[in-house]
Amino acid sequence: MYHVLKGLYLRFSPIHHRLSTVAGATPPLKSDIRRFSQPLSVSPPPLTMSTSPSTAASSSSNCAKTTTKDADALRRDRILSSKLYFDVPLYKAPIIYSTSYDIAFLGIEKLHPFDSSKWGRICQFLIANGVLDKTRIVEPLEATKDDLLVVHSEAYLRSLKSSLNVSMITEVPPVAVFPNCIVQKKVLYPFRKQVGGTILAAKLAKERGCAINVGGGFHHCCANRGGGFCAYADISLCIHYAFIRLNISRVMIIDLDAHQGNGHEKDFSDDRRVYILDMYNPYIYPLDYEARRYIDQRVEVPSGTTTEEYLVKLDEALQVAEHAFDPELVIYNAGTDILDGDPLGRLRISPDGVTTRDEKVFRFAHDKNIPLVMLTSGGYMKSSARVIADSIINLSTKSLISMGGTPRKN
Ligand SMILES: [Zn+2]
Repeated sequence: MYHVLKGLYLRFSPIHHRLSTVAGATPPLKSDIRRFSQPLSVSPPPLTMSTSPSTAASSSSNCAKTTTKDADALRRDRILSSKLYFDVPLYKAPIIYSTSYDIAFLGIEKLHPFDSSKWGRICQFLIANGVLDKTRIVEPLEATKDDLLVVHSEAYLRSLKSSLNVSMITEVPPVAVFPNCIVQKKVLYPFRKQVGGTILAAKLAKERGCAINVGGGFHHCCANRGGGFCAYADISLCIHYAFIRLNISRVMIIDLDAHQGNGHEKDFSDDRRVYILDMYNPYIYPLDYEARRYIDQRVEVPSGTTTEEYLVKLDEALQVAEHAFDPELVIYNAGTDILDGDPLGRLRISPDGVTTRDEKVFRFAHDKNIPLVMLTSGGYMKSSARVIADSIINLSTKSLISMGGTPRKN
């Protein structure tokens, strides 16, 4: 399955051009613009308006509208009363991290092909290099249940009280045998801190031009389903907070993790305020063909794609994206499982290729003065932390991120 090679391709609809909607308004349907990834012979959708609507149908429709309105108002209230957005002093760097991110769970984390202390090691490399002062790191708050309910259903959050379910989402079978209170503390709490970091990153990016959450990027989780090590939909949450708190109405997700970002794709399937550029290996997890229909710009990079091939495709994709959509915020999901040797991503990108990739995306946003949030997402090898740190150092050297504000006054 992983070795089936097919040509790269990129599909783009010129219809999806300079979309503009009002912040906080009911999202318009995306259905008229995402169909370019389907055959042109698809039959037109049935008419939705009847010439003689029945009273029952009308009543049902009104009821649905009221329910949607109530849900929107509740979501807005939750976002406005959240504590996740807080003022970050100017001396802090736009780097968000907490030691709570790192997962250490009685040694069983070693069973997963995931360097679960990657996030802390990235910061250690940055500090050792001298590019980041420890005191300038921004510590986020944990996303509370109310924060999570902005996107997730009560039923989904309840399902995380089952250790068996969490073990399936994290793909660490032994998690199933632990009492849920331990699973919450050792696994889900670190994730909730990372979610808080992703949400805060949008506020910081708007203030500073860009911000990096040294974690997050759980792009396989949607409102009512987790998977692929992703228990919370941090990208969807971050965007909903930005809609309400930052008065932003157009967001571009640039998802360059090796895997398809089916979580945010499902969450924004019908929302024209969100443009999704996803560059992924189509022959690996999650193989979510339904979610692929919701990607605005698909760039498929099959197993074995080399650095040179990858960067050419990225250049083309960013050129297309630039003319397709005019975002007010870019969410960059910068997974490093594209690295050569990664057993899950199956691509062949060199460490320098990752640095170049990140620089291209930062320049894309920087040149147009668009705030950018970077999330580290997947990347499953011990070498990932070093590669990410080297890339951030390069961004700092090229003045694409400023690691220090005004000097701290003691
Ligand atoms: Zn991935």
